[in-house]
This record gives sequence, structure tokens and C-alpha cells, in this order.
Amino acid sequence: AELRLVTARVSVITPRLSLIVIRDITEHERVEEMRRDFLSNTSHELKTPVGAITLLAEAIDSAADDPAQVRNFAGRLSAEAARLGQLTSRIMNLSRLQSADDLTELRDVSVDEVVAAAIESQSIAADAAGIAIVRGGARGAYVRGDVQVLTEAVGNLVANAVAYSPRGAQVGVGVRADAAVVEIAVTDRGIGIPEEEQNRIFERFYRADQARSRRTGGTGLGLSIVKHAIQRHGGEVELWSRPGRGSTFTVRLSAIPAPPMAEHAGRRKK
Ligand code: ADP
Repeated sequence: AELRLVTARVSVITPRLSLIVIRDITEHERVEEMRRDFLSNTSHELKTPVGAITLLAEAIDSAADDPAQVRNFAGRLSAEAARLGQLTSRIMNLSRLQSADDLTELRDVSVDEVVAAAIESQSIAADAAGIAIVRGGARGAYVRGDVQVLTEAVGNLVANAVAYSPRGAQVGVGVRADAAVVEIAVTDRGIGIPEEEQNRIFERFYRADQARSRRTGGTGLGLSIVKHAIQRHGGEVELWSRPGRGSTFTVRLSAIPAPPMAEHAGRRKK
């Protein structure tokens, strides 16, 4: 049995009649606790880049006579600042997805557009690692949702597939669709995820040890954003992975029929 936490407020209306209001605060407490955890994790995570930026600014100051050193420190400072920026925007996105706010732009969304934009968003990182991203499977599927939120979610999966693959590897983005369901599967042949970590990696700020040593730039928020984004769309995320063999993350959403003008949408002038 579950322990319920309640508040009771007694208002005496007349000597013989009292009104007792009992309110279940279990849910309220749980939400409060999550909020507190989130805030304390967040401020902890923000301290790292802020600390580095402070130190680098001091280092630049004391290296003023040495232009090569100044350039070196300045480069690192701007990298830390960029990381801080990414961290902040991810925290904002996640907190928006976790809040009760409605997703703003609900419309008929072309899965082809989402996949293309998600791949495009990772093309610089993929090129830098010599990784080819291969798009396969069905075309012309549609879902109902927020195109930006969906694109960020799929983009995060592609970003991870690239980040945790060896140089020169291939990453696959495949779509399967029927009248009821659309699946977007992002596959890599990278480092893989040990079974005991497969649930934990969707928690915010969680990073597997192997990943920490491999990619220092990560935030540990990417998959948490994916999970909340897809859940907000009534969908689910499934993971298959074997250490040393690779991983497949599959996003499953409800399909909708293609909107009537879909075939001409690509040619329509905006
Ligand atoms: P990060 O910024 O660390 O990539 P994520 O939330 O996106 O944060 O991922 C959490 C952790 O899950 C990563 O640190 C890594 O350990 C693991 N992970 C995610 N995607 C993959 C993948 N495609 N291959 C191997 N490990 C992955």
C-alpha cells in the first residue's frame, strides 16, 4: 500500500458544523522534491564551466605579455563559454518539457522534415569525425506534434550516435511507418551501453563512465530531453545496445494520415 500524505484544514462554521478539507499532497510533495533535486543538480553542473571561465580569465590577465598563451587561454575560454551556453539552453528546454505548459506549436509534422533537419544539425560534428549519416526506410510519414521539439529529440540521438562511434564509422537513421505507428531508429556501431546502465542514461545529468572519459563536452541532459519530448507526444523510446557492438534508439509515435496538400508542400512558396 502506498503512503499518502494529506493536509487537513478544519473550519468551524457553526458550533455544530465544521468543514474539514482534506487535500492529498503526495503528488505535490513529489513534484517539489523533483524540483529541488533538479535545481541542486543544475547549480552543481553550472559551477564547473563557470569556475573554468573564471580561472581562464585570470590566466589571460596574468599572461598578458605572452600573445601565444593569451590566444590559447582565450580559445579555451570561448569553448567553455559555448559549453555553458549549451548547458543553459538544454536546462531551459528540459524544464519546459517537464512543466505542465502545453507544447506550443502543435501541427501536422512531416517525419521526413524532422529527420532531415536532425541529420543536418549534426553534419558539422559528423564531418569532423569522418562519419557518414545514412538515411533509410519509409518516406512520407506524418505525426502530430511540435516540429522543433521533435527535431531536437531526434537530433540528440544522432549527436550521441556520432559522439560514441569510432572515427569513420556509419550512423543510420531509419524510418518505418504504417497507418498507425511511425518508428525512427538511430543506429550506431559505437561503444555501446552496458545493460545495468541502460535505464539510468535517461536520467538527467547521468553519464556512463566510459562516456565521461571519451567525450568531456557532454551534458548528460540529451537523453533526458529525448525521453520527455517523446513522452509529451504520447510516444516512447526504446533502446537496444551491446557494449562494443553499438546501440539503436527507437522513437515510436502515433502516425497520422498525410495532410491533403502534403505532396505539394515542398514546392509551395512561403
Ligand atoms: P551526454 O551529453 O553525456 O551524451 P546524454 O543524456 O545524451 O548525455 O547521454 C547520457 C549517457 O548515455 C552518455 O553519457 C553515454 O554514457 C550514454 N549514451 C548515450 N547515447 C549513447 C550511444 N549512442 N552510445 C553509447 N553510449 C551512449
